[in-house]
Amino acid sequence: MRKLAMVDLVSQYEKIKPEIDKAVLDVIASSAFINGPEVKSFQAELEKYLGARHVIPCANGTDALQIAMMALNLQPGDEVITGNFTYVATAEVIALLKLKPVLVDVFEDTFTIDPAAVEKAITPKTKAIVPVHLFGQCAKMDEIMAIAKKHNLYVIEDVAQAIGADYTFADGSKKKAGTIGDIGCTSFFPSKNLGCYGDGGAIFTENDDIAKKIRMVANHGQSVQYYHDEIGVNSRLDSMQAAILRIKLRHLDEYAAARNKVAAYYDKSFANHPKVKIPVRDPKSTHVFHQYTLVLNGVDRTAMRDFLAAKGIPSMIYYPVPLHLQKAYMDPRYKEGDFPVTEHLCKNVISLPMHTEMSEADMEFIVSGVLEYLNK
Ligand SMILES: *Cc1c(COP(=O)(O)O)cnc(C)c1O
Repeated sequence: MRKLAMVDLVSQYEKIKPEIDKAVLDVIASSAFINGPEVKSFQAELEKYLGARHVIPCANGTDALQIAMMALNLQPGDEVITGNFTYVATAEVIALLKLKPVLVDVFEDTFTIDPAAVEKAITPKTKAIVPVHLFGQCAKMDEIMAIAKKHNLYVIEDVAQAIGADYTFADGSKKKAGTIGDIGCTSFFPSKNLGCYGDGGAIFTENDDIAKKIRMVANHGQSVQYYHDEIGVNSRLDSMQAAILRIKLRHLDEYAAARNKVAAYYDKSFANHPKVKIPVRDPKSTHVFHQYTLVLNGVDRTAMRDFLAAKGIPSMIYYPVPLHLQKAYMDPRYKEGDFPVTEHLCKNVISLPMHTEMSEADMEFIVSGVLEYLNK
């Protein structure tokens, strides 16, 4: 058996190699490396896929979040609410812009932000909510949008882990993750569900004025070349990455189906085991399984990971430390014990290999290793 990986990008590439190689060589031959036709085509194709009015490509997912907040004119001291159990990027850009990150707890079963906790955290200084669609499914957007409307707040969706997921609203209508709030931000980091072969990101919005502002901020604050109306940043998706993403976008739904097949196999294998809790699917969202994450119950996680590693089964901890206990984000407002769910998850989650190229034999091997440890 080949070596197991958390994410197998090599096998995925091998299946689409002729198309990818040609696309990359074509970009080199055209030398339209920056803002070339491939970027415009990818933008249009992603708009169509998402049903989004505007897609603005940028350099990475962290930039996407930063540009979104700059485009909304958030001012130093403005409060932005986000989930505590997440990747650092969200809180990082809030802090970098001298806004105030306000952390709230998440649900233990779906890992997404708890709307009741969001509402409780609102103050007169609150300007925006950043729900993270963690691990591949949408946060409770019906509730979050209602809270935002009631308190006149912006919603910036962090869709870096859930591109392609569909959310069904209470009235039965559906939207793609990232097109629900005022702005959606995503990443094309190679291991993401729609990953390029380097760095990349994009920002989505339905609002023409916000789109114009985002384009300006991402392009040195200029609306006309060499006329700078405000201080912006330089954040672009390069043409080679766009050419690769155009090909991978055509496979995105099939990739999500492959991930769901792995998740279903894991679910079936671990359901009802007293020492693990399988990830709960929110009935209002489809799940694109960026990660498959178990919550352990009374298991020595480090010993389990060592046991699996010795068998050649990789595992990861997403995420080991809550934001409020990270050295860079410590704040007198928060102390250990303030976010019981997040803290419990950080101590007990474990993510198993999840990618688009997993064989039945791989899944069987991983599951038997995990069960062997749990049943020891
Ligand atoms: C990956 C990720 C980001 C950042 O994306 P980069 O392209 O690495 O900057 C932001 N938020 C979440 C939830 C992510 O998973």
